[in-house]
Amino acid sequence: MSELHIALVAHDHCKADLLAWAQRHKPMLLPHQLVCTGTTGKLVQAHLGPQARVQRLKSGPLGGDQQMGARIAEGKVDLIVFLWDPMRAQPHDVDVKALLRLAVVYNIPTACNLATADFLLQSACFANYQREVKDYSDYLSRDV
Ligand code: PGA
Repeated sequence: MSELHIALVAHDHCKADLLAWAQRHKPMLLPHQLVCTGTTGKLVQAHLGPQARVQRLKSGPLGGDQQMGARIAEGKVDLIVFLWDPMRAQPHDVDVKALLRLAVVYNIPTACNLATADFLLQSACFANYQREVKDYSDYLSRDV
């Protein structure tokens, strides 16, 4: 299985859920590069221990979600688990929306709840998947 870049992000009231999920799937996650927003990454590293390869971006509201979006656009993210909080307004809501929009543009498998995160890791596609990205050449060559 080739190494994947797995993005893990959780809003504050969802962080405990993400950490429990990551602990449960630790053997599946350890071979891969984890890319996290700042606070999520600090907690994931502490929970999974030094074997986990965690790349930490800035904290989400301080630009981490935008950094993650840039990585998606650069083709550096293969799978996303983003537990965004459906019950609380976020100061960086536009950044969250932008990240999730790019996840759709680039056809990244994205879980926004634990059930979908479980499905993704247990999918036969996890080990080997050729993700297709829509051809945007018509858009790029449009007359403006
Ligand atoms: P955090 O950011 O991991 O730094 O808390 C999460 C987020 O994007 O809101």
